[in-house]
Amino acid sequence: MKEIILLKFGELALKGANRDFFEKILRNNLKRRVAEFGTFKIYSIQSTIYVDPVDDSCDLTGAYEACKNTFGIAGISRAFETEKNMDAVLAAVPQIIPNINTKTFKVIAKRSDKKFPLESPEICQIVGGEILSITKGRLKVDVHNPGTTVRVEVRDNNAFVTAGQEFGAGGMPVGSNGTGLLLLSGGIDSPVAGYMMAKRGLRIEAVHFESFPYTSERARQKVLSLAKQISEYCGDITVHIISLTHIQEVMRDTVQEEYFTLLLRRFMMRLACRTAEEFDCGAVITGESLGQVASQTMKALAVTNIVADRPVFRPCIGMDKEEIVQIARKIDTFETSILPYEDCCTVFTPRHPQTRPELPFILAEEAKLDVQGLEDEAYATLTTVRIKRRG
Ligand code: ATP
Ligand code: MG
Repeated sequence: MKEIILLKFGELALKGANRDFFEKILRNNLKRRVAEFGTFKIYSIQSTIYVDPVDDSCDLTGAYEACKNTFGIAGISRAFETEKNMDAVLAAVPQIIPNINTKTFKVIAKRSDKKFPLESPEICQIVGGEILSITKGRLKVDVHNPGTTVRVEVRDNNAFVTAGQEFGAGGMPVGSNGTGLLLLSGGIDSPVAGYMMAKRGLRIEAVHFESFPYTSERARQKVLSLAKQISEYCGDITVHIISLTHIQEVMRDTVQEEYFTLLLRRFMMRLACRTAEEFDCGAVITGESLGQVASQTMKALAVTNIVADRPVFRPCIGMDKEEIVQIARKIDTFETSILPYEDCCTVFTPRHPQTRPELPFILAEEAKLDVQGLEDEAYATLTTVRIKRRG
């Protein structure tokens, strides 16, 4: 009996006239994701997407997991496709019983073919009766609060029987809201920030700042590993790498120590916006969380934010570290993030960083530097690494 994957749309079901646009992006994302598991036809009817294997060589389990990690999908299930008659539907019932792992169930039937000889309540009754008789008292019907919902859908050409639906990844299809440039460090927060914004439909590119030889090749590899890990959700990621070594050495010898970090962060933000401009990213994304460290107080964020020429998305801003860690564990970046390699932010860090900077003081310190020259020189070091989702 043929098995297929059924997906229910998430939020994009609400998008009215734009729905076709969102749906098309979602179907393309799915097509790319399941390609490594065989050839699948992907089509949508009403609010369901069908991921339909063309032959037995397709790996349905692999494709199911890939669909589950694709943003834009609220629910996912495996269904048996049968001919459009009750005998065939009943023949599928024993197949779905292993998926009913609860004590109670109910059956929902839908007929888009109104010429089908039985009405929905009758289909429910017959299928429910069959489940009860096969399971011999192990299961009970509960129409109000069922543990598992069994669905029978009678379509124009065939019928589907499925039990249980898992949550999908939610959110909106990657690429449906443009591209964001993620400031990706080796820490815990920024990979989570990238994941969260991909969930809101952004395609993700990344920029990483390093400070060789104060930061090592291992630190760079760690960041590329993190990019690979979030690409499971975000899709392929291009990582731009920029060296801050010279800027940091000049600043160490020139500016007051307490302003060092904030001046560095202003350089990072300007360089990130310049990268975003060149590579067509409408926003930049950081893993900042209010008050987490000296450079993330409201005043510190203000003096950094002011040099940005596009929206800065900070999805972790209102989260506790523990909440961020929970997501990092879920998306499997945590263990990599805690590897103890140095980050350019920890090179020449001040003993007493300024937590309540006033812009005039920052500008006065910055005036000691050839900002444009240093920025141009750093930008000229940009190199690009393309990270594929797998392989
Ligand atoms: P994370 O855990 O992501 O490293 P953090 O708590 O260490 O964050 P900071 O080091 O102050 O905080 O950095 C705040 C944000 O600035 C990071 O989340 C990231 O978006 C950006 N950032 C910091 N260092 C770098 C870097 N070397 N390259 C690119 N972006 C960086
Ligand atoms: Mg960090």
